[in-house]
Amino acid sequence: MSIAEIEIQKFERESGDVNKVFYQAMEEVIYSIAPLLESDPKYSKYGILERLVVPDRVIKFKVVWLDDNQNIKVNTGYRVQFNNALGPYKGGLRFHPSVNEGILKFLGFEQILKNSLSGLPIGGAKGGSDFDPKGKSDFEIMKFCSAFMTELHKYIGPRIDIPAGDIGVGGREIGYLFGEYKKITSSYDGVLTGKPYIFGGSLMRPEATGYGAVYFTEKMLELEGKESLVGKICTVSGAGNVAIHAIEKLQQIGAIPVTCSDSQGMIYDSRGIDLELLKVLKFERRTSLSEYVKTHLEAQYTPCSEYQTNIHPVWDIPCYAAFPCATQNELCEADAQNLITNGCVSVTEGANMPSTPEAVALLQSHKICFAPAKAANAGGVAVSEFEMSQNASMQKWSFEKVDSKLKETMQQICTRVALTAKDYGVEGNYVDGANIAGFKRVADAMIAEGI
Ligand code: NDP
Repeated sequence: MSIAEIEIQKFERESGDVNKVFYQAMEEVIYSIAPLLESDPKYSKYGILERLVVPDRVIKFKVVWLDDNQNIKVNTGYRVQFNNALGPYKGGLRFHPSVNEGILKFLGFEQILKNSLSGLPIGGAKGGSDFDPKGKSDFEIMKFCSAFMTELHKYIGPRIDIPAGDIGVGGREIGYLFGEYKKITSSYDGVLTGKPYIFGGSLMRPEATGYGAVYFTEKMLELEGKESLVGKICTVSGAGNVAIHAIEKLQQIGAIPVTCSDSQGMIYDSRGIDLELLKVLKFERRTSLSEYVKTHLEAQYTPCSEYQTNIHPVWDIPCYAAFPCATQNELCEADAQNLITNGCVSVTEGANMPSTPEAVALLQSHKICFAPAKAANAGGVAVSEFEMSQNASMQKWSFEKVDSKLKETMQQICTRVALTAKDYGVEGNYVDGANIAGFKRVADAMIAEGI
């Protein structure tokens, strides 16, 4: 039995239903890093895997708030502080009804390796709440954020744990969270990233993840000897922060993104997505994508109710490059088959783990360039770290400076992943390259710091 199989057996017994997605992420990593574990016994000797897959602590708390009708509402808040071997805990907050401990453990675990891979001095964490921001007034969002921070502030700090945004948590929510933290602690610390620019945010933080995914893809295509994205049809899922900025960067470099989607349905606009309209619908009016076709009669809107089981219609549109940017497990094996049949050359994960393991295996077996989330969507955390640097030194960097550092960071990550894959005999496998490079750096730090 291989080292990977022994490790996996050990963890399978411990994973319940709530941990399913966490286990999926863990299993992928363990199989990936098998060549490293086999080539160097020190990782087993120091019990690195056993230690790495257990969070340092899981903080769970009650959040009580009042809605606009003075009804008392109760939600659950979490912060999973996973690993701080490389620096203070760092990772986003997600507000979504699906949030539970298992999802946050999966996201926190991925975050450790992503942050390690970025080469930056930050550890891994994730947090959030089962609170649903949809349909809530601005005041309700504010009251929830205040109540959430009343508890969370006890566990975070600029050198301890620096949360950021994720699904359901953008500049507005970070602003309210920061305001409450400041009120409670009387200190003006860079304790959250993704802050609005006016009070300590970095230029380009909102754009960073989507832009970074495109920069990564350009570099990967170059390294793999493929044609660039210029003039190519691209498909994107999601219509949030990551998806919209991936669409924006694709348009800036001369590609043609033709799709987007939200939790209600998807848009296919063969002439290219109308970015300005998309921003108005999602960032200003916070409404459904079905509104898009009211001004673009030639575009197609397909509601989720018309999706075939286990097929996401975004991945059935012929494209050169695909960018899943909505949520986990949104691109399954049948979708991967559709992409392959339609001649897709690359798939880049903007969201966290949007592709199922079966989809990844199928894409890789057909030599599709596949950029995994922990490498391709590291642009957000990279600019978050730039925000921490700016806050600590009381500086404000220009848009151009942040953009060029982001591009350089994404190119470096891509090259590091490609070279690591080559070094460990899995050339062209960006999943294994990312997992090995990310694991190695954090594992070496854990060994150096003792148990
Ligand atoms: P947003 O909340 O801004 O957008 C999420 C988008 O995905 C929305 O369009 C939403 O639809 C859609 N969506 C959410 N859940 C589902 C679902 N179950 N089925 C279909 N569509 C869904 O989030 P972000 O863009 O910030 O995050 C997207 C992904 O990227 C997540 O996986 C996140 O963890 C990851 N990520 C984000 C980073 C960041 O900097 N923001 C950094 C790194 C990773 P609707 O509009 O209807 O709500």
